[in-house]
Amino acid sequence: MIGMSINLRKKKAESAALEAGVDALLVTHLPDVRWLCGFTGSSAALVLCAGEAKGSKASRRAVLFTDGRYTAQAKAEAVGSEVIIATKSPLLAACEWIATSGVKRCGFDQTQTTVADLAAIQKAVPTKLRKSLFVALEPLVAKLREIKDADEIAKLRAAAALGCKLFDHILSYMQPGMTEVAVAAELEHRARLAGAESMSFQTIVASGERSSLPHGHATLAKLPRRGFVTLDFGVLLDGYCSDMTRTVHMGRATSEERNAYDAVLEAQEAGVAAVRSGVTTGDVDEATRSVLRRAGLAEWFTHSTGHGVGLEIHESPRLATKQTQKLKTGMIVTIEPGIYMPGRFGLRIEDTVLVTRSGCEILTPSPKAWIEL
Ligand code: ZN
Ligand code: ZN
Repeated sequence: MIGMSINLRKKKAESAALEAGVDALLVTHLPDVRWLCGFTGSSAALVLCAGEAKGSKASRRAVLFTDGRYTAQAKAEAVGSEVIIATKSPLLAACEWIATSGVKRCGFDQTQTTVADLAAIQKAVPTKLRKSLFVALEPLVAKLREIKDADEIAKLRAAAALGCKLFDHILSYMQPGMTEVAVAAELEHRARLAGAESMSFQTIVASGERSSLPHGHATLAKLPRRGFVTLDFGVLLDGYCSDMTRTVHMGRATSEERNAYDAVLEAQEAGVAAVRSGVTTGDVDEATRSVLRRAGLAEWFTHSTGHGVGLEIHESPRLATKQTQKLKTGMIVTIEPGIYMPGRFGLRIEDTVLVTRSGCEILTPSPKAWIEL
């Protein structure tokens, strides 16, 4: 099954390469390498040949370069790709291979290539080829990765479901006076026991006044007797990320806190309701933002509405003001409006959803109604 999806991914990347006017791709961004050939190691460069380049020395479609630490792993994981163990950097070895392979024009992702990488690429190639062989391209694999295949949807669904289970558990664990890191540690411990490789990003537990920090990582601050606690966390399960946020209230809330929560929840639900194949990401952003505008809270909503989730926690597409990109069936994105009033309080509610033709499926169906602990 995975072999089939990898073959299809390679074919899509080859077509995209030909369309971009190149007959090969040099892929160095590790999540792109993994997506295209299955290799999960930390040192890799992948060359993907298309069109006529496939018939030359590059008779195999994909060649993975890695180093000696990954000899066995690369052969086991990158089924369907030729594996070459480089004695120098995989990038250099890949470039030298490309220079003698019959490839005419090789594209690379300019957003994933450092100045130092580019210097290495140029150095690896004979002077007469330097101008013509390598071509800087817009992210092409990242674009393909926006749409998840069945295998990826299953993995993202499982990661999101584990996130929901952890949230259920942490509700019964949280007590006033407990530190934020104690809450984060419990979440992370349970995640590991359930099979997560790690968290997909540093866990956010932002309590009391700290809830006004959109990215308040857990600290030694204690959960208050009265006040919000924002939990934003995700697991990495089988290579795929989950991402969800819930905000709960410790003790009795003021009416201002309660009204703010109701407004953010209404905004979040409006965002979810706006998601459908064909709608622009800017329109989804506007759906959440306009609710907060009507509630007089828009000035405190200081970030964008959401982002794609997959092998990486933040992927394309972006759901932000005035973005014109259209959502498509099979994209998996977050909807996460929030408000943050410095020195006072803040809150956010976030779901991960799968875009469908007629709407979306919420992959993180944990309760969003007001929770008072
Ligand atoms: Zn999040
Ligand atoms: Zn997010």
